[in-house]
Order: sequence, then structure tokens, then C-alpha cells
Amino acid sequence: MAKKLAATQSDSSSPSSSENLQGSTASQVPSKAKGESKKRKAPTQDEDNDEKPKLRNRATKKSKVEATQDGQTTFVAAKKATSTRVTAKDLDLAPLQERTQDSNLRVGAHVSTAGGVQNAIPNLLHIGANAFAMFLKNQRKWTNAPLDSKLATLFVDGCKKHNIDVGSCCLPHGSYLVNLAHPEETRKKQAYGSFLDDLTRCHTLGIKLYNFHPGNSNASTREDGIKNIAENINCAHKDPATGEVIPVLETMASLGNTIGGTFKDIADIIKLVENKDRIGVCIDTCHIFAAGYDVRTPEAYAATMQDFDNIIGLKYLKALHVNDSKALLQSCRDLHARIGTGYLGLRAFHNIVNDQRLHGLPMVLETPIDIMRDGKKVEDKAIWAREIKLLEKLVGMDVESEEFKTLEKDLYEEGLSERERVGDQVDRKKKKDAAEKVPRKKKSKKEAKKKFKENVDEEDEDEEEEE
Ligand SMILES: [Zn+2]
Ligand SMILES: [Zn+2]
Repeated sequence: MAKKLAATQSDSSSPSSSENLQGSTASQVPSKAKGESKKRKAPTQDEDNDEKPKLRNRATKKSKVEATQDGQTTFVAAKKATSTRVTAKDLDLAPLQERTQDSNLRVGAHVSTAGGVQNAIPNLLHIGANAFAMFLKNQRKWTNAPLDSKLATLFVDGCKKHNIDVGSCCLPHGSYLVNLAHPEETRKKQAYGSFLDDLTRCHTLGIKLYNFHPGNSNASTREDGIKNIAENINCAHKDPATGEVIPVLETMASLGNTIGGTFKDIADIIKLVENKDRIGVCIDTCHIFAAGYDVRTPEAYAATMQDFDNIIGLKYLKALHVNDSKALLQSCRDLHARIGTGYLGLRAFHNIVNDQRLHGLPMVLETPIDIMRDGKKVEDKAIWAREIKLLEKLVGMDVESEEFKTLEKDLYEEGLSERERVGDQVDRKKKKDAAEKVPRKKKSKKEAKKKFKENVDEEDEDEEEEE
């Protein structure tokens, strides 16, 4: 089942790495739970731990890793896939872009770990990433096989081999099921168990940052929810299995019962965390915009960052999710768009990448990369490869230059129809809700569950809009 990566030529600077890469065999892959129901509406680029491996691995097991003289590694698909449902990636893992060596930015994307955590490495090299996110286990399942120590070794050795400073450039994403704010004992225990397990996996893999959604107060008061989150973090800090891993709170798009839609929510959690050296924040650019924080102009950006500093403190900012937004400012909708094509626009990202305070922090793309090819929805990783280079190129670029204006205009036009489609939809829904004067009463369990799912489904949101 494993994506077998056979090193055909060892890199003399790190011989052990190639040996370990050679050692990847099917028997080392944790067995996948059979018969998992496919509840999801559509797979997205980063949610494929459970569903895509079977397809992908069939296609890629003959792929080879070839180290070239300059130490760069190329991935060559040696044999055409037999599956009819393969993606473009299956057929070609050669780097779409080389990793930039001299940029102040650490930009990357949320890559797949289908087939094992070690597969994050070829996937990030494929798109030329200098930072990355991944899921440490299936993000929609409570039960997961433990981290396989052999695969963990492959990951650690692979990072060394490719000069990937995993401690500072990797930001795994937590499970969507976990709600650390939950007051009920059994649910609390379950959520904490998954959280602790993820932090432990990070520590084993040499990862220092761990991003997660703070939670929701559907079943408690906001104050109690925030207290529960902080308590869980404090508890995890005291467990030696978590090493020095820093839990990173992600800013959220929604207000209401979602915790983390305001900077104050985040600050309130941090206030209750005892070990302040081991807590961080990740700004998701789409989320904060949807929650009402503007970053489109240099002035708006400066004001938002000042707010962040005043309320939370910039020293807690450990990472960013860089996504444009298909919905308007203060829409409270979590709808990621490709860089420059949404309502944030390219200027917002120019503001961000030219802020030297953010240089060195992992910036992770969670932008949609599904495209239609031959009547099928496939992932086009070239989109991320392009976006990484685009963000790097924006550093120091004059916004009055022809180059910037052309880029801005082209991306603005590329996103026009999608902005109109989604923006209109959101606007219509807002008006409809207002007309119906939906009472703000406590939601039923089913409604709350649906609402929570909406809040946590980032890329899946597109499907919600079809309703
Ligand atoms: Zn997230
Ligand atoms: Zn995010």
C-alpha cells in the first residue's frame, strides 16, 4: 500500500537518508480501517488520509526518487498508473518548481500524507514549498492507528536529507472532530485524547508547532468553553510526551458559538494558559477577513496587526494560513479562494509578505486546487507551486509597477465569476436570514452539529454553497 520511494542514487551528504527511503515497504504502513463510510461530500487536497491512498498508491508505487548532483531530488513516475481515477500528481512527481533558497519567506501548502507521514516530503518538494502543513492522522475519525515508528524515522531522515527544518517550518493541522471546549466528561476525554495524541506525534517527529481550531461553545457558555480549552492545553503541557510542542490556536471565520472568531477570544484563552512560552496563534487570512478584520490596504493591514498586538500580542503569532476569500468582509463565511482571486485581492498579500515581522513564520496555503480535467475533478498542484513563487515574488515588489498591476488585474479577473457567484449567494442568504429574523436561541443538537461542521469545513464549504 505504501508509496514506495526507491532511492536510485544516494546523496553522499546524508547516506542514511537514502537507505531509509529505500526501506519504505508496504508492511510498514499502518493498516487502514476497512469499511469507513464516506460521509464527505467531496475530497479536498488535504483531507485524503483515508480515502485516497488506495487510488494514489496504486498509481505511485513504482515511482522513484532520484538524487541529482546538486542534492536536489526529483521524483519520477516510472510506470503509468493502472487506476483510472488517478490525479495528475500520480503521474508526475517531478518538482513543478524548485524550492527557493534565498527568500525571507517560508511559504508552502497543506500537503497530503496519504500512505504515511513520510510522504509529506515528496509532496512538499513537488510544489517547491519551504513550509508545510499536514494532518497527523485522519482528521475525521476518532480511531486511528498509532504512528508507525519506521515511517516516523523515514519522515525525520527525509527532512534531514532535504534540509527541511521541520521544527520551524511544519505546522500540522488538528482533527476537525476535536472540540476542546466541550464540557461533557466523555466528550471532553475523547477530545483531549486526540489532542494529546497529536501533540505526542509532533514531538516524535521533531515538529514544534501544532495548529488547531479552538472549539465551540454549542454545549456550554462561552466563558466555560474558553476555560475548558485552556485547561486542556495546561494539562497537555504537563505531559512529558508532548515535549516542547507549542499548541497554536487558529483564528476562525465564524462568530456565534465558534470560539476564536475574535482576537479577544484568543487572548482570553492565552490568559488562562499557565506556560505562556508554549502557546501560539495562527492567523488565517481568509478567516480573519470573514470575521471582520480588514487587511486589504496598507492602512487597514497596519490597523489589524496593531489590534492583534494590543489584544493578543504579536509575540504569540507563530504562523499564517494564507488564503484569499470568496466571501466579503464580515461575511463570517469560511470560503477559501486562490491568492489574488478573492475579495482580499493581491494587495492584501503584498501587505502581508512585506511585513518583516512575519518573515520566518510558516505561511501555509489552503487554497482550492481542484480543477476539471477530462470531465473529472482532479487536484492541480501546479496552482500551489505558482502561488508559492507568487508570494515570494511579491516581497519588495513596487505596487505601482507594471508587473504588480498586471498580476493584480489578471488574478482579479480570474476570480470574477466565482466572487460574484459566491458573494451573491452569501448576500442573499444574509438578507433571507434577516427577513426571517432567525431567533438566536440555543440550537438543537442536530443544528449545532451541522453548524459546527460548517465552521470546521474549510474547503468543503464550496459544496455548502450549492444548496
Ligand atoms: Zn483550520
Ligand atoms: Zn486555516
